[in-house]
Amino acid sequence: MKEAKYIFVTGGVTSSLGKGIISASLAKLLKSRGFSVTIQKLDPYINVDPGTLNPYEHGECYVTEDGAETDLDLGHYERFSNSPTSQANNVTTGRIYQHVINMERRGEFLGTTVQVIPHITDEIKRRIRLLGQTGQYDFVITEIGGTVGDIESFPFIEAIRQMRWEMGRNCAVVHLTLVPFLSAAGELKTKPTQHSVKTMLEQGVQPDIIVCRTEHHLNEGIRNKIAQFCNVEPTSVIESIDADSIYDVPVLMLQEKLDIEVLRKTNTPYSDKIDITNWKNFLSRLKNPKAGVTIALVGKYVELKDAYKSIHESFIHAGVVNECSVRIKHVHSEQINKDNLNMHFHDVGGILVAPGFGSRGIEGKILAIEYARTNKLPFLGICLGMQCAVIEFARNVLGYADAHSTEMNPKTSAPVIDLMASQRKVHDMGGTMRLGAYPCRLKPGTKVAALYGEELVSERHRHRFEFNNTYRKQFEDNGMIPVGIYPEDDLVEIVELKEHPWFVGVQFHPEYKSTVARPHPLFAGFVAAVLVHSSR
Ligand code: GLN
Repeated sequence: MKEAKYIFVTGGVTSSLGKGIISASLAKLLKSRGFSVTIQKLDPYINVDPGTLNPYEHGECYVTEDGAETDLDLGHYERFSNSPTSQANNVTTGRIYQHVINMERRGEFLGTTVQVIPHITDEIKRRIRLLGQTGQYDFVITEIGGTVGDIESFPFIEAIRQMRWEMGRNCAVVHLTLVPFLSAAGELKTKPTQHSVKTMLEQGVQPDIIVCRTEHHLNEGIRNKIAQFCNVEPTSVIESIDADSIYDVPVLMLQEKLDIEVLRKTNTPYSDKIDITNWKNFLSRLKNPKAGVTIALVGKYVELKDAYKSIHESFIHAGVVNECSVRIKHVHSEQINKDNLNMHFHDVGGILVAPGFGSRGIEGKILAIEYARTNKLPFLGICLGMQCAVIEFARNVLGYADAHSTEMNPKTSAPVIDLMASQRKVHDMGGTMRLGAYPCRLKPGTKVAALYGEELVSERHRHRFEFNNTYRKQFEDNGMIPVGIYPEDDLVEIVELKEHPWFVGVQFHPEYKSTVARPHPLFAGFVAAVLVHSSR
């Protein structure tokens, strides 16, 4: 069985240079040349997964088909490459140590001192090669989180050093750095790049390709200087200029021949044929919208765009489907009250209430939903957003004044959202929610069934609470219809309002499955409804 070739993507100088986007772009290009590719993210923190991290700390937690709670970069990989990822695609230092310590407790290292080298580095290498040894891939692109020189990333860089030594040209290292522009001097500066490559060299790793993030084009002189000081060929110095949209980056990397350079460095035969027509069509529609809509995103992490990353990207995809630009107006749920609803929502064509946990800002979300319901404004509620729509309906239509989710009010007399039976015995917080893909059967003749165009769909979940079936009939009789059901446990996954142009609540997270190649039908349908509403 063939083993994959390994591409490592490291970062230097500073964080936030966009390693995830570069990795995803490289994957996209290699796939478009006919190679099979997967991407993995190694995160140097001690949490076993990012599921217990606050979005303020780390942005959105992205959920894969198999229910892994992962880094948001995996979302970019899926959106760019249109292939699903899994637990194996995201590994943290915490998970590595947990595994090694469990082995030690089982007595698998009896008599030996367990050390960073070789035990931790061996486990890192094993995790990297797990994907490559499945025989499914020509390339595994492994992105190392953090910045070279950080204490935390030492064992990962050491693992790369060993793999390069063991595998020779079946590995390549792509190092992403910053080439800052000093306006006082009017010059781009290469010194930070030189230093970060030196830091890698101290750890025994010579990068093969240097990708330079920059605000201005790199001239020949700068490219040659970087090549000379960093021991790489001038063709291996790749410019990564700031782009209008992350979706421009694969095309920019194609122009800079990043993919060709990787193929050359790994001695991989290739032809000149590459097909990215669909991607270019997407970009041209993205850049030439025929209309524009504004949608309010109601949540409690509005200061931080990354907290709702996949939702933002899904709106970009859905905008392209509808040939319109989608402007997101962030509305902080804690700042919504009865008297300022018009101020917040008079200029929007639709409202999305975001997923979330805990009671902070919950009443603002419920008020926003009441506004959307009574003003016939298109509405999409995701996870907690759907639960709030159910609570709002129970209070204001069914007349249960204190209706609530037992997550927020365990003593409510109308627990319309309640803990799932399977969750009652759960005590650990990490990785114990209802996670990953579950099938959902749609009710024929409904708006959502028409949008999906099929009856049985699969969507990803991340929650502990659910619609309480005790109240189901009352909801149905009064116009809030369960239109999507998880057949095995008869759980309500989607509700739709009968007397409303477009009001949908989903217990799952459609945003995790929207990609450039396959924009999500619910987002596309929501934006289409907003477009209709806005043009009235
Ligand atoms: N807090 C809710 C639950 O656990 C909703 C979770 C979410 O929005 N992801 O059920």
